Amino acid sequence: MPVLLGCIADDFTGATDLCNMLVRHGMRVVQLLDVPDEQEPVPEVDAVTIALKIRTCPVAEAKRQALAALAWLRRAGARQLFFKYCSTFDSTDEGNIGPVADALLDALGADLTIACPAFPETGRTVYKGHLFVGDLLLSDTHMRHHPLTPMTDSNLLRVLGRQTPHRVGLVEYAVVRQGEGAVRARLAALREEGVRHAITDILHDGHLMTVGHACAELPLVTGGSGIAMGLPDNFRRAGLLEENPEAAQLPSIAGKEAVLAGSCSAATLEQIRVFAAERPALALDPLDLARGFDPETVLAWAMPHFENGPVLIYASAPPEKVEAAQRALGRERAGAVVEQAMAAVARALVANGVRRLVVAGGETSAAVCRALGITALRIGPQIDPGVPATVSLGDPPLALALKSGNFGGPDFFLKALRVMP
Ligand code: ADP
Repeated sequence: MPVLLGCIADDFTGATDLCNMLVRHGMRVVQLLDVPDEQEPVPEVDAVTIALKIRTCPVAEAKRQALAALAWLRRAGARQLFFKYCSTFDSTDEGNIGPVADALLDALGADLTIACPAFPETGRTVYKGHLFVGDLLLSDTHMRHHPLTPMTDSNLLRVLGRQTPHRVGLVEYAVVRQGEGAVRARLAALREEGVRHAITDILHDGHLMTVGHACAELPLVTGGSGIAMGLPDNFRRAGLLEENPEAAQLPSIAGKEAVLAGSCSAATLEQIRVFAAERPALALDPLDLARGFDPETVLAWAMPHFENGPVLIYASAPPEKVEAAQRALGRERAGAVVEQAMAAVARALVANGVRRLVVAGGETSAAVCRALGITALRIGPQIDPGVPATVSLGDPPLALALKSGNFGGPDFFLKALRVMP
């Protein structure tokens, strides 16, 4: 069976969030960590998401990678393409949302797509083309001061208008409220007017379903993970996707269990505190690591504990300690020694029978996956919002929970190990 929905995500955790949404709505999903080689076999699933890292890279590079992903997904049979970006529309006047969407439209020979970052479940709504986060306009939130993509304008027609030479239009609330037929008619009218990107007003999940259904025939849909909610239905209606209550089911993986934490976010620090109150935990200090590190020492500490359950190895530290490490080593080097140590520990653990791993931190997760040669993840049930349990394809298969620093409740680590079959 060919893939139905082919997705391109502009960053790793965004890709996971999207996969989580599609699984919750009945699709079997694999997430690829990069564009695979041409001869790589296509996984037997309904949707494939290729996670890129193109949110803030130069425009030409973003387009190149997105087009390479598109080519692979089309070869895999994808009938519809989805370009996933952040629900806060993270971008600059240069891009990369507009240029990537335009490049994908051109390659697909398509003339219209929607731009729908809205995700009411997380407070992101769009009204009269303006993006809100909770009660505030986007430009009145912390996103105004984002170091890479400061969002100082909440009017998405203007924001996207600066990123594309083509016309940007609006499917307004009054139309969305009337239902799928009205949205289809409005999209057709906008197409007639020469509009290439249609912003969609969205106030609640019902609107996401309406707009999602109205996009059934669009070759390309763009937006946050919210709008992906309505897309699986389109394939069911077309008789291409069967009801599958087991879409989230993963194979059971038995083996030793460990948690690796490299995120210094507040949520992760709290998760470490909660876990360490019950189970053995070993802290790694970047200053020690920089003087030389042998992962066998960590292994020697961990092995006797495994028969009683999972262990935690962490470098995470509160801000003052991170700053001290960065002053001593430089910001880059401090991050790099920790990532290298985590990667080496992960390799040593897996070589000695660990098969169930929780990793905290976006960059830390990327480093661990690279070290373990993991290129594809089957997506399973949700652990906490935005974070699913996964199993890696490849040998040996590993049960993995990879989370960006700020995600998950205080008991995330043990909860993740419970949810992973
Ligand atoms: P998050 O998802 O919270 O951003 P990441 O893993 O992406 O987490 O980033 C955290 C970064 O901080 C990593 O590069 C990691 O190596 C680094 N780091 C972890 N612990 C320390 C520490 N004690 N001192 C300095 N840097 C650290």
